[in-house]
Amino acid sequence: MRIFLTLFCCVALGIQVLRAQDYRWQQRADYTMNIDFDVNTHRFTGSQKLVYTNNSPDTLRKVYYHLYYNAFQPGSMMDVRSRTIADPDARVQDRISKLKPDEIGYQHIQSLRQDGKDISYLINGTVLEVTLAKPIVPSGKTTFDMKFEAQVPQQIRRTGRNNREGIVYSMTQWFPKMAEYDYRGWHAYQYVAREFHGVWGDYDVKITIDPKFVLAGTGKLQNPESIGYGYENTGSTVKRPDGNLTWHFIAKRVHDFAWAADPDYVHDKVQVPGGPELHFFYQPKEKFAENWKNLQPVAVEHFKFMNKRFGKYPYDTYSIIQGGDGGMEYAMCTLILGEGKFNGLVEVMAHEVTHAWYQGVLASNESLYAWMDEGFTDFASNEFLGIAFEDPAPQASSYAGYFTLIKSGLQEPPNQHSDHFNTNRAYGTTAYNVGAIFCEQLKYIIGDEAFYKGMRSYFAKWQFRHPEPNDFIRVMEKTSGMQLTWYMNYLINTTKRINYSIRSVVSEGNDTYITLERLGEFPMPVDLMITGKDGSKVMFYIPTNETLGNKPVEDKSIDRMDQVAWPWVNPTYTVKVSKPMSQIASVEIDPSQRMADIDRKNNKLEIADGIKAYQDPTK
Ligand SMILES: [Zn+2]
Repeated sequence: MRIFLTLFCCVALGIQVLRAQDYRWQQRADYTMNIDFDVNTHRFTGSQKLVYTNNSPDTLRKVYYHLYYNAFQPGSMMDVRSRTIADPDARVQDRISKLKPDEIGYQHIQSLRQDGKDISYLINGTVLEVTLAKPIVPSGKTTFDMKFEAQVPQQIRRTGRNNREGIVYSMTQWFPKMAEYDYRGWHAYQYVAREFHGVWGDYDVKITIDPKFVLAGTGKLQNPESIGYGYENTGSTVKRPDGNLTWHFIAKRVHDFAWAADPDYVHDKVQVPGGPELHFFYQPKEKFAENWKNLQPVAVEHFKFMNKRFGKYPYDTYSIIQGGDGGMEYAMCTLILGEGKFNGLVEVMAHEVTHAWYQGVLASNESLYAWMDEGFTDFASNEFLGIAFEDPAPQASSYAGYFTLIKSGLQEPPNQHSDHFNTNRAYGTTAYNVGAIFCEQLKYIIGDEAFYKGMRSYFAKWQFRHPEPNDFIRVMEKTSGMQLTWYMNYLINTTKRINYSIRSVVSEGNDTYITLERLGEFPMPVDLMITGKDGSKVMFYIPTNETLGNKPVEDKSIDRMDQVAWPWVNPTYTVKVSKPMSQIASVEIDPSQRMADIDRKNNKLEIADGIKAYQDPTK
């Protein structure tokens, strides 16, 4: 009995320890959907079987679904916010308030059962709250059967029908979708403007629709033959069978399912060496079709670049679809604007495809940490575009955007829900530009080698696990051997700014003393380049105490003089250069300009002949 008890205790303890370690469990939602689409009314009915697995240590008594389409109704939170925010999105403004009954979007629940039993629910705007008939215990599984009816809204943003490029249906956020539950709780946010978060699972989706439409979407088409035209280079000239057609898609281990339909879509296929297979869907309009052809080899190069530099894309398929409104990332596909100039098409493709890594596979909570998704995406796609367009400073526009936002007085801390920024402008600059700066500036702190190694480790370790800020920074700390939480906290949780200046330069015998001043609240390690009148260069590297380590030498062709750390409480720091001032041509803080110093005018001093001392004139 005692032996048995001891054994039992060990097993119980073992499970406890396992649970404690694996606090980043992932819920699972497997969908099987049958959709019957009426292109005359723009409505569809759906049956949805959702097998939900509770991998959390909690017993769930309620679950929440998103009903995103309900946002496209006059008086919705999205409508009110779009009309009352200080700087409305020109694409939305008051358009929702003017939608007529046959133009609004809705998702009506016709029936909902849990394991065969009817269950009660409440609809509040775009959130469906379901009280379970039977609680779902830890490791428990349950099946929800839902019947629903939906009306596709007139296109306002991202989803809807009849957008300005004439794509008939852009079907995103189109089905009742289970909200994510994690160790932070439910993420059942009202749909106000932007960003999504979903549960990993398998999707098996059958869509029955008028045969004149060509469909594109998440995952892989299962029945190209029975669709009747082989699904290759279709266009509308191919003979279609009579009656509606059923398109069958399967996508494994994704957190969303999007699709689009248009009678005119042309479909091209290109294989990326080492994967994935790319599918392109676009309208064969004379002016733009050539751009779409020329885009294909660039997209292949982009996938090769991303696979090599940031980690291998794990799915074998990806679709680039002309969606007709902006550009938006979805699982295994993107919907992008298809018209306009070729460079613009390349830019939107590169950005959205890069999301396949940060939104599709890593899938940080985009609502809470938009900077980890949009920012990292912008950073990586800018690197590709820098190569493609031969731009030596591909991140410069991010810094410029950040500095302009600061001047506008609208700066806000990045770590907040994306809908809760005071202005669209602050959200945009913060998520995209500050997120990109976060990466570029991290290269300045830890060096390129550790940075790229870290980005690949991050992708390998956190794929399919919804990483959060601390998860990212811990990978970078382990890769670089430096402490970086201070950096993340300053940049992401505050609006503190970096501003270093050259306070004074004084000649004393054969030595020169250079005093730097920290004018901003945000401390950083400092690269200080001393250029001699003979053209020689020496880098003085001043670390901070916070990093508990130095970055490796970045440019081995230039001598580096490592200094003692600059304690962040000290406003000034003096460097001794063993050279008379008469031999120094210039002194420059951060010649690489990767540090987001808000005033670069006071970072460089050219020393004219005969000068014995310099003092910052503003002091
Ligand atoms: Zn984006």
